[in-house]
Amino acid sequence: MAFRAHNFNAGPAALPLEVLEKAQSELTNFADSGMSVIEMSHRGKEFDDVNNQTNAKVRELMGISDDYEVLFMPGGASMQFCLIPMNFIREGKSADFINTGAWATKAIKEASVYKNVNVLWDNKDENYIKCPKASEIKVNPDAEYLHICQNETIGGIKYAELPECGDVPLIADMSSCIMSEVIDVNKYAMIYAGAQKNIGPSGLALCIIRKDLLERDPGNINNFFKYTTHAKNASMFNTPNTWAIYILGLVCDHLKNNGGIAAMEKVNKEKAKMVYDVIDSSDFWRSPVAVENRSIMNIVWRLPNEELQKKFVAESKANNMIGLKGHRSVGGLRASIYNAVPKASVEALCQFMKEFEKNN
Ligand code: PMP
Repeated sequence: MAFRAHNFNAGPAALPLEVLEKAQSELTNFADSGMSVIEMSHRGKEFDDVNNQTNAKVRELMGISDDYEVLFMPGGASMQFCLIPMNFIREGKSADFINTGAWATKAIKEASVYKNVNVLWDNKDENYIKCPKASEIKVNPDAEYLHICQNETIGGIKYAELPECGDVPLIADMSSCIMSEVIDVNKYAMIYAGAQKNIGPSGLALCIIRKDLLERDPGNINNFFKYTTHAKNASMFNTPNTWAIYILGLVCDHLKNNGGIAAMEKVNKEKAKMVYDVIDSSDFWRSPVAVENRSIMNIVWRLPNEELQKKFVAESKANNMIGLKGHRSVGGLRASIYNAVPKASVEALCQFMKEFEKNN
């Protein structure tokens, strides 16, 4: 049995052991080619199959219709913060944003470099502890789109209900919740996610874009920055991150073989409940976020003082539990429990928390 840490890292994060072992088994000889998948031409038949099949697997798992392009893009989710406004906010127009925390803020900041943005709702005064209710959001009917961060990785919150957008396209950053719960893709005009949390290695963004958005003329920008360029070239305009696309395909196989996203959702909710139940069980622990917006991927909590938090992190590490320190910008503690974090790891964390409380 491989030595494995209880991996609560926020990203890059745990991947299924089965995926890693499969990649290991064919690392030096992929599909009887005598080459590694990272040694072969991206224009060759073997990799072309990987690219096409991975695309088809993502479509099948998420129930994506032919109305959408599925693209594998370089540069992670941060690149999308730049490309979305460049491509989809036309001359003289603006887009709406909701600010729920660190990642929504970054998306707003990048869009503001080139374009007019309207921030409809901002929870800064409360330190980003909740998402808006649908009734609180009045989208500007002329907006080019509404952008949301569906799950804030640092703040540990997610939407309980989606804003009503009418005909305004909804664009969601799902970096830390992609494929963790069943969603209706048809509610969105675009979904994007850095792969490194739930679905693969870093440096790759999965982008699901409704085709009508691609008809918007982005004006005079470099070809590389146009979504249409990547769509026309099946994500191979330039040399793609072949390794990341290959691993994403293996993760999709793994999900499919284990009941798909619905099965993941069930287990993810059970895992999250286990941790929240411990947090709620006594005043020793404190969750800073609104109960209805608690993330099931990134659980954040606090201890009575900084000293105890440091002790918790040190002792958890000594017990083979990695990544429980909160993000440096907010402090506290955080457990990222993505799809690939086994229930046994969450059980170990809960057990450790109970003992820590007793001893302190
Ligand atoms: N959005 C969210 C919600 C994230 O959690 C992250 C990464 N932690 C990003 C965007 C940025 O992703 P990347 O590092 O792939 O650019």
